[in-house]
Amino acid sequence: MKKVYLDNASTTAVRTEVIQEMTKVMTEDFGNPSSTHSFGRNAKSILELSRKSIAKHLNITAQEIIFTSCGTEANNWILRSAVKDLKVKRIITSKIEHHAVLYTLMALQSEYSIQVDYVAVKPNGEIDITDLVQLLSQETKTLVSLMHVNNETGTILDLERVGRICKQYSVLFHSDTVQSIGKTKIDLHAIPIDFIVASAHKFHGPKGVGFAFVRKNSGLQPIFYGGEQEKGLRAGTEALHQIAGMAKALEYSYTNLETERAFILDLKNYLVTQLEFEFPGFLINGTVDGFYNMLNVLLPFSEDKTAMILFHLDMKGIAVSRGSACQSGTIKPSHVLAEMLSPEDLKKPSLRISLSHYNTKEDIDLLVEALKSI
Ligand code: PLP
Repeated sequence: MKKVYLDNASTTAVRTEVIQEMTKVMTEDFGNPSSTHSFGRNAKSILELSRKSIAKHLNITAQEIIFTSCGTEANNWILRSAVKDLKVKRIITSKIEHHAVLYTLMALQSEYSIQVDYVAVKPNGEIDITDLVQLLSQETKTLVSLMHVNNETGTILDLERVGRICKQYSVLFHSDTVQSIGKTKIDLHAIPIDFIVASAHKFHGPKGVGFAFVRKNSGLQPIFYGGEQEKGLRAGTEALHQIAGMAKALEYSYTNLETERAFILDLKNYLVTQLEFEFPGFLINGTVDGFYNMLNVLLPFSEDKTAMILFHLDMKGIAVSRGSACQSGTIKPSHVLAEMLSPEDLKKPSLRISLSHYNTKEDIDLLVEALKSI
């Protein structure tokens, strides 16, 4: 049975070149970047070259990149320090953020009694910018936290526009860019934004490593204490093989961006055409022109199919997702779709199909065939 992986928003296959780079670092460059002997200096040089390479792709300075263990850690750090150290009293976010943001804000709200306001979400999953502007008219020290590409529906936030609005109202702007880094060009020199986060396993790099972009002179303070790594902002010996692998993965992603994007978009269009042909009543959760690697669809199946659909596809070797990864396998409705769909539609089966350049039209055909047999 051919296995078909269509869950690339959850995680991606690691590129062969990335594995080779990581293997080389683990076998040959095992020094601790903080050691002053030649092994350490060699490791330090790989660390700093990785930082420079990542910074170059985002058009920022290397000092503005802080390595972390994942996107979740980077989100937690930025939001917590913004409240604790930058004295942010109010955070404007949305109910469709990833739990790495939503649950962190709930914790901060109870620990520091900050005000958390949720900007309205349109039925197509887009953020209501008019509502954001209205919310910004208060005088309190504020941070706006809105994700770039939604991990369940692929709806896109206009980072530049929101950045300009935040600047105009003199508020801080943080964006969870975990789904978009490595998949679209982001010029952080041109966008007025204070903080973004990334996670290597979403762009064909290893799991367990990510980074935060922290604009120069932000005033952010560490939440971990220990060594002086990462300019004292993130203590703990750097996972050099992971970091080098991440830098290599980002380099490949951006070098191949145009060809891979065109290829993936073509697959997505093929998927939409096939679904239109086989399941004429299907609906797209979000917008047709959402992010090119993702499609969230509401299938015209009865409610009783909801619980078993993933299991059925899995039995046929096909991996897709229902909502976000952390919820797949459970029948808890997606908190993102809950903001967009009617209670009746929420009970019906929705699937997130997320693609990569490793997929083929045959994968789509196998998915559609499997859906037809449900
Ligand atoms: N933010 C978004 C939008 C995500 O999709 C994910 C991963 O599912 C995360 C944060 C968490 O990233 P990590 O797995 O690196 O902790």
